[in-house]
Amino acid sequence: MPQKQKRNSNGAKKNNNNAHKKNFNNNRNRSNFEGPRKPAAPDIHAITYTEGITVGELAEKTGRQSSDIIKMLFMEGKMVTINTALDDDTVELVCINYDIEPTKVKEREEDTLVFDGDKPENMMERPPIVTIMGHVDHGKTTLLDTIRKSKVAAGEAGGITQAIGAYQVEIDGRKITFLDTPGHEAFTAMRARGASVTDIAVIVVAADDGVMPQTREAIDHAKAAKVPIVVAVNKIDKPAANPDHVMQEMADLGIMPEEWGGDTIFVRTSAKKGIGIDDLLETILTVADVKELKADPDHVGTGTVIEAKLDKGRGPVATLLVQTGTLKQGDPIVVGSCFGRVRKMTDENGHELKKAGPSTPIEVIGLNDVPEAGDLFRAFENEKEARALADRRRRRKIESERRKSSAMTLEDMSEKIESGELKEIPIIIKADVQGSAEAVKTSMEKLEVGDVHINVIHATAGAITESDIMLADASHAMIIGFNVRPDANIRKKAEEAGVEIRLHNIIYKATEEMENAMKGLLEPVYEDVTIGEAEVRETYKVSKVGTIAGCMITDGKVTNTSSVRLIREGIVIYDGKLGSLKRFKDDAREVLKGFECGMTIQNYNDIKIGDTMEFYEAREVPVE
Ligand code: GDP
Repeated sequence: MPQKQKRNSNGAKKNNNNAHKKNFNNNRNRSNFEGPRKPAAPDIHAITYTEGITVGELAEKTGRQSSDIIKMLFMEGKMVTINTALDDDTVELVCINYDIEPTKVKEREEDTLVFDGDKPENMMERPPIVTIMGHVDHGKTTLLDTIRKSKVAAGEAGGITQAIGAYQVEIDGRKITFLDTPGHEAFTAMRARGASVTDIAVIVVAADDGVMPQTREAIDHAKAAKVPIVVAVNKIDKPAANPDHVMQEMADLGIMPEEWGGDTIFVRTSAKKGIGIDDLLETILTVADVKELKADPDHVGTGTVIEAKLDKGRGPVATLLVQTGTLKQGDPIVVGSCFGRVRKMTDENGHELKKAGPSTPIEVIGLNDVPEAGDLFRAFENEKEARALADRRRRRKIESERRKSSAMTLEDMSEKIESGELKEIPIIIKADVQGSAEAVKTSMEKLEVGDVHINVIHATAGAITESDIMLADASHAMIIGFNVRPDANIRKKAEEAGVEIRLHNIIYKATEEMENAMKGLLEPVYEDVTIGEAEVRETYKVSKVGTIAGCMITDGKVTNTSSVRLIREGIVIYDGKLGSLKRFKDDAREVLKGFECGMTIQNYNDIKIGDTMEFYEAREVPVE
């Protein structure tokens, strides 16, 4: 069946929002709230507000009683309390009833934890912060352990080291900070949360194995973050090691070794035998020198949460990485939307610190709640100010989580192109085979409408994974799936992150859709709505009928008119119509989740145990 243009659930979400708005707009015509008479209205005709304003704050701004607003919203079917954060439509509704013009303004400068108070005259060199990435089993963990063991500051050897998520080593009297969670997933998860921590990425490639899928991913993730790369060609102690081959493969991917005239330094290491470790560390320092990493240690400490947990005895415990300024014991601090005081601060060796400057990882206790990895933190001089800010941020977080949509949909894209805001469209391509990924990439890259073009940040073969979703989220990209289908879990993750996935099985359809979107001509005609999923548990071959699949409906439902995609290991191997649908011996019109049934696919018999069937219906999308 030819696939039609579709849109995913984000489109639907948008419609809902609009419907919601319409309801409120109807209320505009109502002259006033028909409740008990209010005291004489104060002389306020306009207000400004920021995201996450609460009923109490709105009452204060409008000069009304909170109880009035609560009653008014109750009459509109909304249950709120004085501390409920209100969305824009609700603020508008309340204001219209009071004849007040509301204007939304950006979050107050002091409400963000982003700190830009560095003074040029105070800037000092700071240690580089390094993440180690690469394919599984190429030696990331071993490398991190070896570096740590060989370079712990004198006197620490044999001491008790704690895993706090990051550590520092010293070489030639200079420090390097390593993030202790290897892999690009953690790196990109951080970036998806808006944190940029890593200065340099070390990509580990086993010399006996060469470039593997996660090596490519790591390169793309580092490039997307614009972080310089150092390559550790590892396991050179192995007889099968072929470092030149690794260099060639990396060069083919655009990572050109310095010794061949490129700008990436390749270091030969054996993490296991401790070979090349000093060389690697010195290289990291060289790259750091080029980047001129500096920070101003002379103000309140600010930075990012590396990890956090709830400890039974100590309460919330967070590993923080100070990025600028100096954090001091006793400082009032806002971490994400948590508040606290730095009650105790320790380094990775369990030593208590009184203060911690730029690039220092520390474990902190004294917070009122557990923040999330990737949250920003900032110390304050004034406790009251910090507490109030944390409070506002907490409410805003609740509000924005309710209607999160950070990545871009095709429709947003069209709007942004029209307004000239967007010149480059980042996309991620996942396809059934590398050849198709390349083909889709090439044809996408050729698209150019006006001065808008496509930037393919990642294109590989394989199913859409969580790591793709995170990369898309972090890079505000959308994902183009070619002959692949995300499973229910991935779809949910994408929806949560607001990442749009567009699925195609004909290249020109994919490019045509993109081109139309670039021209602002996007008019989706149909959307495929997934209605259910089943697992194939048995297969029976019956002459004249073909293969009958004994299935368990694992999600949603199937109907006898459904279209079906047959999926094997995340790849769509057939897309067609259902043949027959039976419960026991009888024809069934629909079978729901949790029930077994038998089915055939029209004109298709290669069904195997373990395959997934995804059922969908094409529904017309009303033109907005
Ligand atoms: P990771 O999955 O990338 O973290 O890889 P690991 O650090 O767990 O290493 C995978 C395997 O490779 C382990 O058995 C290590 O002992 C081994 N290994 C790591 N580095 C080297 C090396 O330089 N030489 C040799 N011969 N083996 C290594």
